[in-house]
Amino acid sequence: MNTPSHYILNLAVLGTLSPGFNGAITLGAIAPDFPIFAFYLVVRAIEKRPKETIWSEAYYEPFWQNCVAIGHSVPLAVLGLLACLYCGWQPGTLFFGSAILHSCLDFPVHNDDAHRHFFPISDYRFISPVSYWDPRHYGKIAASIEFLLVLATVPIVFNLLESPISKGILGAIALLYLWGYTRFYLPIPSPAKSSQTPQNPPS
Ligand SMILES: [Zn+2]
Repeated sequence: MNTPSHYILNLAVLGTLSPGFNGAITLGAIAPDFPIFAFYLVVRAIEKRPKETIWSEAYYEPFWQNCVAIGHSVPLAVLGLLACLYCGWQPGTLFFGSAILHSCLDFPVHNDDAHRHFFPISDYRFISPVSYWDPRHYGKIAASIEFLLVLATVPIVFNLLESPISKGILGAIALLYLWGYTRFYLPIPSPAKSSQTPQNPPS
């Protein structure tokens, strides 16, 4: 699932259940994808690898795969959650709860870019028949559902947010989604349609 969707959906669910912890929930929603951002930054900005090989080769190197697996590890997040519960530290509990929800949302929508959600206990990957982005694996339907879910929950999150800056960021994400969805997934006949297949990073 796209990282901004995790931010919006996690905040809509956990922010409603536990008001007052928006910061911890937001961090927990996006932290599992931090290794992917770091990967992209390193291979593009520092190592300057060719764009075509980034998501097909470099991303699958063991070092980066382990970093991504740590970010999406449910056992490690559960350990963190239990430690925070034991210490009575609520922001930490919400952070790890949000990270677990991130993995639960990724689990059913990753095909050949599936994460190892049980790392380090197991290297098992659930190869879902559905991909959140790949048109060869129901990507258009999955993207439509994700898009509608996000749009439906934007008003809930808007009411949860207090600062005008956060509300502005949320509005910008909603507009970006609207633009991205109509550009990549709506069946508008266009001569350049075949060259517009999205190349999403696994998030
Ligand atoms: Zn993810």
